[in-house]
Amino acid sequence: MTIEIDAELHRRLFAGINEQGFSPEGWTRAPWTDELRAAEQLVIDAAVAGGMVCEHDPAGNLWITDPQAPADGLVATGSHLDTVPKGGAFDGTLGVVGGLVAVLALRAAGVPNAERLAVISFADEEGSRFNTPCFGSRTMVGTFGDEVADATDKDGISIRDVGPQDPTKAAGLQRRIGCYFEIHVEQGLALDPADVSLGVATRLSARGRWEWEVVGEANHAGTTPMAGRRDALVRAAELVLAAQREAEARAGAVATVGRLTPWPGGTNVIPGRVYGTLDVRALDNATRDAVVQALVDGFPDVAIEHKSTDDAAIFDPGLIGDLHACAHDLGVSAMDLPSYAGHDAGTLALSGVPSVMLFTRSPNGISHNPAEHSDESVCLDAIRVLAAAMARRLV
Ligand SMILES: [Zn+2]
Repeated sequence: MTIEIDAELHRRLFAGINEQGFSPEGWTRAPWTDELRAAEQLVIDAAVAGGMVCEHDPAGNLWITDPQAPADGLVATGSHLDTVPKGGAFDGTLGVVGGLVAVLALRAAGVPNAERLAVISFADEEGSRFNTPCFGSRTMVGTFGDEVADATDKDGISIRDVGPQDPTKAAGLQRRIGCYFEIHVEQGLALDPADVSLGVATRLSARGRWEWEVVGEANHAGTTPMAGRRDALVRAAELVLAAQREAEARAGAVATVGRLTPWPGGTNVIPGRVYGTLDVRALDNATRDAVVQALVDGFPDVAIEHKSTDDAAIFDPGLIGDLHACAHDLGVSAMDLPSYAGHDAGTLALSGVPSVMLFTRSPNGISHNPAEHSDESVCLDAIRVLAAAMARRLV
């Protein structure tokens, strides 16, 4: 059976969505805004034209299914339509558009059991506005409880003010999903140097965030001799360098101090206190934890406080194998690739839904930036591979 991908539909939907929230500095579609709703409406119109039905669940995730969809065992794909502020055109949008185009192609080809095909556009994946990343999927699987709807933005407006009232009523809906695929623009620079079109994600890294504070003693920058100073920023600098060293010493680990605030912050004052952040990621939980433990042991004088962790999400070996086999059949180059970012597919995988991601080559490795890009030919190849892999799961 040949599966014909409608390249024109892909082009039209992708362009239409990216007319929403556009400015010369990038695309901004925050969740539960007019821009986001306009983008969703384009997807809904195309899905309905293809004979599918669309419904928002209580967390605001958009489900696109067949009118005769079964209660479970859905062969699903999707991503998200929200963006970070001044983000790129591809992150999220490609997975929703590509997923819908693949599903409509399979339905048009008359594949058996097509009523099991579904597309999900997850709500508030980026979490930029309310600091609630993967809101839709995490609420669905129960990682976020009801209090998440009280999260506020910088103006004090809560999710409940603008979005879902009772998001946890969506809890458990992931049990409808038999398996989940997500196309996504590559975030990093692995595929282009290897001259490979697609990356098959094997896992999402273990991640974690910490905050720390060094306490020294503020004093006069002129009258305090070097000997005996308690300069908190000098100690903080040692911690920054140690974080780099500990990550470099472990394969696949990365550590970043992204914020550093000395206090009181005067040119002629020795810093008495420094606040800092720490973001550590690694291929597995143990390596992430080892980096942090080394810093805790090396800096007993510094309070290092755990804020959040996400364990490594392992993708399904069967789905990984399917994507490779389909790419091979279609003559599209593909290689395994871990990802160091968070995605809804990772949330689903951690909750036990067999999941996988397919990354499209990014020539510059840039993401969350208007320069984010994948060639259209690579995107269409990804959609062909996705459609073929989803067809395998229908039989
Ligand atoms: Zn994304």
